[in-house]
Amino acid sequence: APPAVLAMIDRPCRSSAADATSAEAPPAFRLVPARSPQLRVTDLAVTRGDGIFESATVRDGVIHSEERHLHRFARSAAMLDLPEPDLDVYRAATRAAVAALDLPPGAEAYVKYCLSRGDEELTDVGPIGWAYATLSGDFTAARTEGIAVVLLDRGYARTVPATSPWLLAGAKTLAYAVNRAAVREAVRRGAQDVVFTTPDGYLLEGPTSTLVLRIGDTLVTPPPEVGVLPGTTQEDLFASLDDLGLRGEERDVRVPELAAADAAWLMSSVRLAAPVNAVDGVAVPVDHELTARINELLQTRTG
Ligand code: PLP
Repeated sequence: APPAVLAMIDRPCRSSAADATSAEAPPAFRLVPARSPQLRVTDLAVTRGDGIFESATVRDGVIHSEERHLHRFARSAAMLDLPEPDLDVYRAATRAAVAALDLPPGAEAYVKYCLSRGDEELTDVGPIGWAYATLSGDFTAARTEGIAVVLLDRGYARTVPATSPWLLAGAKTLAYAVNRAAVREAVRRGAQDVVFTTPDGYLLEGPTSTLVLRIGDTLVTPPPEVGVLPGTTQEDLFASLDDLGLRGEERDVRVPELAAADAAWLMSSVRLAAPVNAVDGVAVPVDHELTARINELLQTRTG
């Protein structure tokens, strides 16, 4: 098994911090053997997927986009009416896990951190969290040759964040079984990944990634208001567009714009920018040069 480090976060939320100031308070988190059993079978993350998570890239001991991820973690918690996570505790726990991972220079790793609402039985215990750091897979092929995608209707109108916030569109919850099912459907159709669409013909995102199109000298991505997760990778890229001589635009994007685009990518923290090379079985152009520049930029970001 690859090297891994696990930090259990016993005091993940500000509301559980009443005792945090007292001198005898136990530490907010502790490193435990990475593959030791920790969760009870009655944990709400297990029984209902009722919790939230983040996954951030780690390179040379640095957590990329650390603050964007922490900010989004708090946003997801608010969307689920979870107690506010203590971001100082999560920052310390994730950094401790990453430091203990001790990887060679240039190795790509990631840290995934979670917050569970608690336990069905242990109602007095409240939320618990954890942070798990380990080596990343090899995404070279996806980053260079690209990925074939299929368009799948997510069935939600692009107005759901406003009309039906209980659907949690755009929250990073631990309930990703639907996202996994969509990828299996893509594989059944001979592709590797998915671009979700709305019933009224708009593009959304991938099951674990943000959709970005290049149309001329503009990079276009659907806005969070349509029910997509705000992507940290896309945000980092859009913050560096001057370096690439491109402009950025967040706007509603119609389905036909994907096949007509000059280039398209699915972007995410760990896989980075994977160029789309086919849509529903039809080849689309890959901008190899820009893809390489984007991935180089993303690999060297630290902020
Ligand atoms: N959209 C969804 C549904 C995701 O799960 C993810 C990441 O896992 C993303 C977009 C991309 O977000 P990020 O770039 O922060 O990894």
